[in-house]
Amino acid sequence: MAIKRILVTGGAGFLGSHLCDRLVAQGHDVICLDNFFTSQKLNVAHLLGESNFELIRHDVTHPIWLEVDEIYNLACPASPVHYQFNAIKTVKTSVMGAINVLGLAKRVKAKVLQASTSEVYGDPDIHPQPESYRGSVNPIGPRACYDEGKRCAETLFFDYHRQNGVNIRVVRIFNTYGPRMHPYDGRVVSNFILQALAGEDITVYGDGGQTRSFCYVDDLIDGILAMMGGPDDFVGPVNLGNPGEFTIRELAGIIIEMTGSSSRIIEKPLPVDDPTQRRPDIDLAKQKLGWEPKVALRDGLARTIAYFRELDLSRYHRPTDYHYTGAGVTMGGH
Ligand code: NAD
Ligand code: UDP
Repeated sequence: MAIKRILVTGGAGFLGSHLCDRLVAQGHDVICLDNFFTSQKLNVAHLLGESNFELIRHDVTHPIWLEVDEIYNLACPASPVHYQFNAIKTVKTSVMGAINVLGLAKRVKAKVLQASTSEVYGDPDIHPQPESYRGSVNPIGPRACYDEGKRCAETLFFDYHRQNGVNIRVVRIFNTYGPRMHPYDGRVVSNFILQALAGEDITVYGDGGQTRSFCYVDDLIDGILAMMGGPDDFVGPVNLGNPGEFTIRELAGIIIEMTGSSSRIIEKPLPVDDPTQRRPDIDLAKQKLGWEPKVALRDGLARTIAYFRELDLSRYHRPTDYHYTGAGVTMGGH
């Protein structure tokens, strides 16, 4: 395989750090760019001594001049509590970030992949969600900064492709979990595992009847790499996720059982616009990329629980000082 120069924006984050690992192991020259909003250098510290790895502190809302062959655009807070913390900044990160990486891709003729999301489907009234479904998104609610930001980023990717011939790929990622999620990320899997390990109450939002489909990080990275390496006439968007669907209450029960915890389940207010169901239709990914996830929920959870058991929490700071009310996010206190 030819060695490529590859830029990973958001490369120090949960998914980005795993992607950097794989690309560095393949021998590519990897530039990891991050502003460390929802991550810490700790996630990629093990790569810093590698001669084919470079770390840049930079914010994707500002242009950057580099010479690369491929770009993976992952920079964006992914957890609702963090992307709602500074909603305007989230829109800027998605939209201006997309414009900046697409401008870079256009100038140096790089192939560029966008990490889009199942959130483009909003609170879906088609189930499971195929790529052809256009979504049901509230454009003025607390999740809109992320959902509409990501939708606009997709628009920009397709406009640069049509108008400027930029070689793009768009993947729509469904809930992914695994080692290196930030312990204070606020998403459901990390919250429940940390609460269970500490013997604290497990905070189920609403009655826990809402569903999500959880993909293990290794499977997801396989899918992203398959899409980037796939044929130029298949630019996406393509769903990447695990079609296994669980209620949030079921997830809480499984994590309590697997950790042997004595935690109780308590209910907290359901966040505004929290999607009631979510499951990817992955037929397109199977057909076009020969990709499907392999890791069952319990196997992935076992690896994630083992990671969090060993984690030294004192080395992590909270990305934002959020207070979760169910009606959105307010600053200050917990
Ligand atoms: P994450 O929060 O761990 O990683 C995001 C990274 O982007 C962090 O390192 C953060 O510091 C960085 N970042 C944020 N704003 C930035 C900016 N303005 N400039 C530079 N860097 C910035 O989240 P993740 O789960 O690794 O998500 C990675 C990407 O995948 C995101 O774009 C997210 O929207 C997308 N995604 C993730 C999931 C999931 O379940 N993990 C689902 C759908 C989509
Ligand atoms: N959730 C929960 N307790 C938590 C965190 C999240 O019940 O401590 C719920 C949340 O309301 C949503 C689901 O779990 O229904 C997944 O939330 P997450 O923040 O992981 O991501 P989302 O899929 O909503 O973007």
